[in-house]
Amino acid sequence: MKLIIASNNKGKIREYKELLEPLGYEAVSQSEAGINTEAEETGETFAENAAIKARAIYKLKKCAVLADDSGLSVDALGGEPGVYSARYGGLSSDGERCGLILEKLKGVSEEKRGASFICAIHFIRPDGREISVEGRCEGRIGYSPLGENGFGYDPIFMYGEKSFAQADAEFKNSVSHRGKALAELLKALEAEK
Ligand code: IMP
Repeated sequence: MKLIIASNNKGKIREYKELLEPLGYEAVSQSEAGINTEAEETGETFAENAAIKARAIYKLKKCAVLADDSGLSVDALGGEPGVYSARYGGLSSDGERCGLILEKLKGVSEEKRGASFICAIHFIRPDGREISVEGRCEGRIGYSPLGENGFGYDPIFMYGEKSFAQADAEFKNSVSHRGKALAELLKALEAEK
């Protein structure tokens, strides 16, 4: 069954393809499906934004669609950057955005540096029925960027003694917000097979 992944991010598409093909889904990216527009992410939550993206594509193609939305929520910043993770502070690079968070947390004690990565996935079946799931990963914000792997806020997100950018991909996938949300989705899809 054809499945459109509402993204053109190569890493994300590969990960989703590997996990969903054994369930009989033939996953293609948004651009492979001939969609060149992007829905505006006007939601106030990750779940709302994932639903907006998935529904916009379903409306056009009427086939199975998967969309996700994710980001970082820092306790001491009242949940910022949240749904603005990708464009936090109007800054244009991951490094600058990490720097801004470290700056804002200057002087904040270890026990108040808690943070979570959150990932919402919205899946629409060909008949229009929807599944919405969410995964979270809790850690804390470090004191300087560490590690070279990963992307985004990984260098400042400490999971145990290591930052996510110091962890290998397999380990990160096994504990990450995205890995957990996907596991929830697979459970829901397998339950109805
Ligand atoms: P999106 O879900 O592709 O819109 O991602 C939103 C933003 O959240 C990304 O640009 C990253 O800055 C951040 N983000 C989401 N997931 C991760 C992750 O696993 N590691 C680091 N940053 C992440």
